[in-house]
Amino acid sequence: MAYEFDYRVYRRPFRKPLLTHHGLWEVREGIVVRLTNRHGKVAYGEISPLPWFGSETLEQAVHFCSQLPTWLSESAIFSILPTLPACQFGFETVFRNLHQDIHYSELPPLRCAALLPTGEAALSSWRPLWAQGHRTFKWKIGVAPLAHERRWLESLLGQVPLGAKIRLDANGGLDELTARHWLDWCDRTHHRIEYIEQPLPPHHFPELLKLSRRYQTPIALDESIASLEQLKTYYYRGWEGVYILKAAIMGSPHRLKQFCQQHPIDGVISSVFETAIGRQAVIDLAIELQEMMPHTAHRAMGLGTAQWLPSDGLNQPNWDHFWQRLS
Ligand code: MG
Repeated sequence: MAYEFDYRVYRRPFRKPLLTHHGLWEVREGIVVRLTNRHGKVAYGEISPLPWFGSETLEQAVHFCSQLPTWLSESAIFSILPTLPACQFGFETVFRNLHQDIHYSELPPLRCAALLPTGEAALSSWRPLWAQGHRTFKWKIGVAPLAHERRWLESLLGQVPLGAKIRLDANGGLDELTARHWLDWCDRTHHRIEYIEQPLPPHHFPELLKLSRRYQTPIALDESIASLEQLKTYYYRGWEGVYILKAAIMGSPHRLKQFCQQHPIDGVISSVFETAIGRQAVIDLAIELQEMMPHTAHRAMGLGTAQWLPSDGLNQPNWDHFWQRLS
């Protein structure tokens, strides 16, 4: 069977630009892909690249979509090269959505870690998120001087109720000495820091492994495992810490599922600021993966990011309307 293919590029400015060690991110751009079968049934998928994590760029994804024929076969959808991982995810998702009913499920805030603004702004931002039901918060480090960040984090820990968990995310921005300072400090907080994401850059894997064995506070790989191939590499090189799974840029969701089924890692599914279309695919996958990864059941998913983007029509499950607005 062949499917009619079309696509649209979207552009969504963040409510406030997001500051990380990778720089300031102001606009989320991606592609919505649409397939229609011969009976007129329509389905959508999303390609949301994150090139500074190693995925294809938006331009490469647009180029790929632009050279496809109007009618696609199933084999064309499933033979996209791993060099286009966000496209693999988007096309597998749209194909799956065409062949199943979508339930439009949302996760309760308790199950999602809410991303706080970087720097001191976190101190005035956690309360409304706590009131919504979030109990896990994520905060970026490695952006301001260590002494400032430590002081802000100490204030934050003094403010949030004891039941709150904090995740730190350095985005690979620390050197080994600073990472040790942070880990020493985290170990003294008696488990109030759930883990530190990617303290060192991906090519420092031996040092990351050493730190993960030396400190009690868990370390999570994120930038190191931007693709399924990298995830496998570090798994076989002995990583026993946490794995951040940015499913939308990791290629085939089917193959990711297969790997997690065979290797029940401590994985945390995480957002790359998708629209409702990509988000639904990630939530569906997260629910399936959680059954395969029992270690992960107590961890909130990295999906508490909706407050960073405008709550326009793109967050509604009214995907036909959204498509028409992009047309
Ligand atoms: Mg991260």
